[in-house]
Amino acid sequence: MDNELNELYQEVILDHNRNPRNFRALPDANRQAEGDNPLCGDHFTVFLKLDKDKIVDIAFQGAGCAISKASASLMTELIKGKTVAEAQKYFADFRKMLDSGVADEEALGSLCALGGVHNFPMRVKCAVLSWHAMLAGLNGQPVVSTEKS
Ligand code: ZN
Repeated sequence: MDNELNELYQEVILDHNRNPRNFRALPDANRQAEGDNPLCGDHFTVFLKLDKDKIVDIAFQGAGCAISKASASLMTELIKGKTVAEAQKYFADFRKMLDSGVADEEALGSLCALGGVHNFPMRVKCAVLSWHAMLAGLNGQPVVSTEKS
Protein backbone atom coordinates (compact mmCIF):
# COMPACT_ATOMS: atom_id res chain seq x y z
CA MET A 1 0.00 0.00 0.00
CA ASP A 2 1.45 3.38 -0.93
CA ASN A 3 1.79 6.21 1.57
CA GLU A 4 -0.83 8.44 0.03
CA LEU A 5 -3.47 5.75 0.40
CA ASN A 6 -2.29 5.09 3.95
CA GLU A 7 -2.77 8.74 4.82
CA LEU A 8 -6.22 8.75 3.29
CA TYR A 9 -7.18 5.73 5.38
CA GLN A 10 -5.73 7.37 8.50
CA GLU A 11 -7.93 10.39 7.78
CA VAL A 12 -11.04 8.20 7.55
CA ILE A 13 -10.30 6.60 10.94
CA LEU A 14 -9.55 9.94 12.62
CA ASP A 15 -12.66 11.50 11.15
CA HIS A 16 -14.95 8.69 12.31
CA ASN A 17 -13.29 8.70 15.73
CA ARG A 18 -13.81 12.45 16.13
CA ASN A 19 -17.29 12.56 14.59
CA PRO A 20 -18.75 9.09 14.91
CA ARG A 21 -21.83 8.52 12.74
CA ASN A 22 -25.08 7.26 14.31
CA PHE A 23 -23.56 7.81 17.76
CA ARG A 24 -26.71 7.96 19.86
CA ALA A 25 -29.31 5.81 21.56
CA LEU A 26 -32.12 4.40 19.43
CA PRO A 27 -35.34 4.69 21.46
CA ASP A 28 -37.36 2.46 19.10
CA ALA A 29 -34.68 -0.21 18.79
CA ASN A 30 -36.03 -3.76 19.01
CA ARG A 31 -32.59 -5.36 19.37
CA GLN A 32 -29.59 -4.27 21.35
CA ALA A 33 -26.36 -5.82 22.54
CA GLU A 34 -23.30 -4.76 24.45
CA GLY A 35 -19.77 -5.44 23.33
CA ASP A 36 -16.93 -5.53 25.80
CA ASN A 37 -13.21 -5.72 25.08
CA PRO A 38 -11.52 -5.64 28.49
CA LEU A 39 -8.03 -5.95 26.99
CA CYS A 40 -8.28 -2.44 25.57
CA GLY A 41 -11.16 -1.01 27.61
CA ASP A 42 -13.57 -0.70 24.68
CA HIS A 43 -17.23 -0.92 25.59
CA PHE A 44 -20.11 -0.22 23.25
CA THR A 45 -23.83 -0.78 23.05
CA VAL A 46 -25.24 -1.37 19.57
CA PHE A 47 -28.92 -0.62 18.94
CA LEU A 48 -30.79 -2.13 16.01
CA LYS A 49 -34.22 -1.64 14.59
CA LEU A 50 -35.05 -4.76 12.69
CA ASP A 51 -38.04 -5.09 10.37
CA LYS A 52 -38.34 -8.73 9.27
CA ASP A 53 -34.85 -9.35 7.89
CA LYS A 54 -34.02 -5.72 7.18
CA ILE A 55 -31.94 -3.47 9.45
CA VAL A 56 -33.90 -0.24 9.08
CA ASP A 57 -31.86 1.66 11.66
CA ILE A 58 -28.70 1.17 13.69
CA ALA A 59 -26.90 3.31 16.25
CA PHE A 60 -24.29 2.90 18.96
CA GLN A 61 -23.07 4.41 22.19
CA GLY A 62 -20.11 3.85 24.43
CA ALA A 63 -16.42 4.53 24.61
CA GLY A 64 -13.26 3.00 23.28
CA CYS A 65 -10.08 3.52 21.31
CA ALA A 66 -10.02 5.17 17.89
CA ILE A 67 -10.07 1.86 16.04
CA SER A 68 -13.06 0.44 17.90
CA LYS A 69 -15.00 3.67 17.59
CA ALA A 70 -14.21 4.23 13.90
CA SER A 71 -15.08 0.61 13.13
CA ALA A 72 -18.45 0.94 14.88
CA SER A 73 -19.16 4.20 13.09
CA LEU A 74 -18.25 2.79 9.67
CA MET A 75 -20.33 -0.30 10.43
CA THR A 76 -23.48 1.71 11.15
CA GLU A 77 -23.05 3.60 7.87
CA LEU A 78 -22.65 0.39 5.88
CA ILE A 79 -25.28 -1.75 7.59
CA LYS A 80 -28.17 0.69 7.77
CA GLY A 81 -30.86 -0.34 5.30
CA LYS A 82 -29.20 -3.69 4.59
CA THR A 83 -30.57 -7.17 5.21
CA VAL A 84 -29.27 -9.45 7.95
CA ALA A 85 -27.61 -11.62 5.29
CA GLU A 86 -25.85 -8.59 3.78
CA ALA A 87 -24.64 -7.52 7.23
CA GLN A 88 -23.25 -11.01 7.84
CA LYS A 89 -21.53 -10.91 4.45
CA TYR A 90 -19.93 -7.55 5.29
CA PHE A 91 -18.60 -8.98 8.51
CA ALA A 92 -17.25 -12.09 6.77
CA ASP A 93 -15.42 -9.91 4.23
CA PHE A 94 -14.21 -7.55 6.96
CA ARG A 95 -12.90 -10.47 9.03
CA LYS A 96 -11.17 -11.86 5.95
CA MET A 97 -9.43 -8.52 5.38
CA LEU A 98 -8.29 -8.33 9.02
CA ASP A 99 -6.90 -11.87 8.81
CA SER A 100 -5.23 -11.52 5.42
CA GLY A 101 -4.38 -7.83 5.23
CA VAL A 102 -5.82 -7.77 1.72
CA ALA A 103 -8.51 -5.11 1.29
CA ASP A 104 -11.24 -5.73 -1.26
CA GLU A 105 -12.30 -2.17 -2.05
CA GLU A 106 -15.35 -3.31 -4.01
CA ALA A 107 -16.73 -5.50 -1.24
CA LEU A 108 -15.82 -3.31 1.70
CA GLY A 109 -15.77 0.32 0.55
CA SER A 110 -14.79 2.69 3.37
CA LEU A 111 -14.14 -0.23 5.72
CA CYS A 112 -10.86 -0.71 3.82
CA ALA A 113 -9.58 2.11 6.01
CA LEU A 114 -9.21 -0.49 8.75
CA GLY A 115 -7.14 -2.88 6.62
CA GLY A 116 -3.94 -1.80 8.38
CA VAL A 117 -5.25 -3.26 11.65
CA HIS A 118 -4.10 -6.59 10.21
CA ASN A 119 -0.56 -5.57 11.21
CA PHE A 120 -1.58 -5.17 14.86
CA PRO A 121 -3.14 -8.49 15.95
CA MET A 122 -4.01 -7.16 19.41
CA ARG A 123 -6.13 -4.46 17.83
CA VAL A 124 -8.22 -6.84 15.73
CA LYS A 125 -10.45 -7.34 18.79
CA CYS A 126 -11.03 -3.58 18.86
CA ALA A 127 -12.03 -3.57 15.19
CA VAL A 128 -14.49 -6.46 15.44
CA LEU A 129 -16.05 -5.58 18.81
CA SER A 130 -19.05 -3.61 17.59
CA TRP A 131 -19.57 -6.15 14.79
CA HIS A 132 -19.79 -9.00 17.29
CA ALA A 133 -22.26 -6.92 19.29
CA MET A 134 -24.31 -6.20 16.16
CA LEU A 135 -24.46 -9.89 15.20
CA ALA A 136 -25.23 -10.92 18.80
CA GLY A 137 -28.05 -8.38 18.85
CA LEU A 138 -29.48 -9.82 15.64
CA ASN A 139 -29.33 -13.27 17.26
CA GLY A 140 -31.06 -12.00 20.38
CA GLN A 141 -28.02 -12.18 22.67
CA PRO A 142 -27.75 -9.12 24.94
CA VAL A 143 -24.03 -9.17 25.77
CA VAL A 144 -20.91 -10.26 23.95
CA SER A 145 -17.27 -10.16 25.01
CA THR A 146 -14.28 -10.49 22.69
CA GLU A 147 -12.01 -11.42 25.58
CA LYS A 148 -11.81 -15.06 24.51
CA SER A 149 -12.49 -14.77 20.78
ZN1 ZN B 1 -9.51 -0.81 21.47
